[in-house]
Amino acid sequence: MPQGKTKMIGVLAYANVEPYQEQPGEEYMNEKQLAHFKKILEAWRNQLREEVDRTLHHMQDEAANFPDPVDRAAQEEEFSLELRTRDRERKLIKKIEKTLVKVQEDDFGFCDSCGVEIGIRRLEARPTADLCIDCKTLAEIKERQMAG
Ligand SMILES: [Zn+2]
Repeated sequence: MPQGKTKMIGVLAYANVEPYQEQPGEEYMNEKQLAHFKKILEAWRNQLREEVDRTLHHMQDEAANFPDPVDRAAQEEEFSLELRTRDRERKLIKKIEKTLVKVQEDDFGFCDSCGVEIGIRRLEARPTADLCIDCKTLAEIKERQMAG
């Protein structure tokens, strides 16, 4: 595996892997590709789990040490913000785990809606993507229309 030079982006950095280099004629989502994404997904999930744990400890250490109500209010604000972030992260962890099941069942990398290949580059940017770019765009348009 080539080392160093290539700039790693986003979730690839968590797993410390380089963007996948396809060989000519390589089959989409063969074992090597699946292993690549499994590694990324697991590293990403572990990273998120650590962040969730760290926040909980941080909040336990810091909680309720301010006699001043203004400080307390500021702390509560900070905590509720952190809790919302953690909540998003927990949901993301669940999504990652669902995606890992797909990898296991050899069902990863194809659009849930139309079945086409989602594509390696798109999946490296967003490994939990379950729609191709066209279906995703369409879904977003529909969502906006429903929201009015
Ligand atoms: Zn699609």
